[in-house]
Amino acid sequence: MARYDVVIIGGAIVGSSVAYYLREEGFSGSIALIDRDPHFAHAATTLSCASIRQQFSIPENIRLSQFTLGLFRRLKEEFGPEADIGFRENGYLILSTEEGVPVLTANNAAQQAEGADIVVEDAGKLAARFPWLSLEGIAAGAFGRTGEGWFDAHAYLQLFRKALRTKKIDFINASVTGIERQGERIAAVLLDNGERLEAGTVVNAAGPNAGRVSALAGISLPVEPRKRSVFVFEARDRFPDMPLVVDPGGVYVRPEGSVYIAGGAEPEATDGPADSTDFEPDWSLFEETIWPAVATRVPAFEAIKATRAWAGHYDYNTLDQNAVIGPHPEVANFLFANGFSGHGLQQAPAVGRALAELIVHGGYRTIDCSVFGYERIASGKPYRELNVI
Ligand SMILES: Cc1cc2nc3c(=O)[nH]c(=O)nc-3n(C[C@H](O)[C@H](O)[C@H](O)COP(=O)(O)OP(=O)(O)OC[C@H]3O[C@@H](n4cnc5c(N)ncnc54)[C@H](O)[C@@H]3O)c2cc1C
Repeated sequence: MARYDVVIIGGAIVGSSVAYYLREEGFSGSIALIDRDPHFAHAATTLSCASIRQQFSIPENIRLSQFTLGLFRRLKEEFGPEADIGFRENGYLILSTEEGVPVLTANNAAQQAEGADIVVEDAGKLAARFPWLSLEGIAAGAFGRTGEGWFDAHAYLQLFRKALRTKKIDFINASVTGIERQGERIAAVLLDNGERLEAGTVVNAAGPNAGRVSALAGISLPVEPRKRSVFVFEARDRFPDMPLVVDPGGVYVRPEGSVYIAGGAEPEATDGPADSTDFEPDWSLFEETIWPAVATRVPAFEAIKATRAWAGHYDYNTLDQNAVIGPHPEVANFLFANGFSGHGLQQAPAVGRALAELIVHGGYRTIDCSVFGYERIASGKPYRELNVI
């Protein structure tokens, strides 16, 4: 039987970031980082679209992304001269119909108040800025001039994983199949190899599986896997300045090296919990929704054909599509880092830092994450993010 001061369930970007910042904060206790998937083949982290934005509706989400942006800006300082995640700062362009303009401008006011470099422009200005874009049906758009773009998710995860190798972390390749609770404390974590790990603190960083992991401790968490398909296509025309464009219907498209990727707009009526083994892309979504939207918005994409596709699972918080961060109010040694609902890759460093501060210092220091606490889940009071892409 082993004992660890901190047991982290899930070793992809969120779990690795928690472990990393624990050591950065000077934590000298023992840490176990457990993952059942040694190559992260099914992790949201590696199946994501690896994009970062400032265009959120609530200040705390903007702050979490800005923390990561700061890290991107001093990547080599933090991780060494070889560190490179291929950050392409092309921005997001979130388009709106006339009806959506009040929300777009209200969100923009929140972003500007946080110092984000986002401008709202009318259709005429956007047409001049992006001549390849059709503004049919569009009244305005919000464009990130700096601080937004995309990067290489694998390289980003590897930066953290590699940095952890010298930080005295026990990497455990196993599945957590049980969590032993003694009253208002988690006592131990049980593994599928029969091991029992006593734990001082347990961090749930299980991504789309976080609801099930919480349930092992008898704790209800409204986070479930939701399948999201991403389609890759080629086009003859290249638009070097192209941002990640989000159409009012929710379809997004952006360049990815020499090709383009597109996704979004899953129909609400059929969007529900995914079978955790189902990673089959939904090709009908491309034919019926994504291709028509992309071809309308960028006429040069009219004759495209998707050459391949993949699907991943969102760590979807059904209450309000926002993260759940921090301790359970009664079971205080069980910490959540879950439910990011499509924006966890860019929030992971900030959340890792926040939880490390909580464990080491007993409170948040860099970014106050209290609004993301479990209390709102317990009382059923959503704190909703309006920009869920
Ligand atoms: C298609 C798609 C596009 C996305 N695009 C973006 C984007 O552009 N920008 C952005 O910021 N975010 C994006 N996201 C969301 C982002 O990928 C996730 O929010 C983020 O990666 C969550 O990280 P995580 O480490 O919590 O979860 P994961 O990466 O899923 O890792 C969880 C880990 O926990 C392990 N695990 C789970 N249960 C157990 C268990 N019982 N025992 C042991 N190990 C366990 C898993 O094996 C896994 O490795 C996207 C997601 C998808 C699916």
